[in-house]
Amino acid sequence: MKKHCCDEMQSQAEFACSVHDSASDCPDALVSYSDKFREYGLFVHDGGTSSKAIGFCPWCGTKLPESLREQWFAELAALGIEDPWSQEIPVPFRTGAWYRGA
Ligand SMILES: [Zn+2]
Ligand SMILES: [Zn+2]
Repeated sequence: MKKHCCDEMQSQAEFACSVHDSASDCPDALVSYSDKFREYGLFVHDGGTSSKAIGFCPWCGTKLPESLREQWFAELAALGIEDPWSQEIPVPFRTGAWYRGA
């Protein structure tokens, strides 16, 4: 089973570039995908790491799954983790494993 809607999205989401370490530095990277938030975004190449969330695939037009960013924070808060950026978080929450149930 494919993880993303189409081949183009698949290759963007699994960004790999031999020149740039980070997708936000790479002009060829258009879409960012955050597995732990199940969130798709368009890169804003302004020198930072910002991206703009998108609801539909720019290539095939498929409606993308809703972002789980809020649930991610809510579930961690329920575990007593109020500040996931400075606190240690359980391993499943570092990827999409927490909502995939894997
Ligand atoms: Zn697509
Ligand atoms: Zn590159």
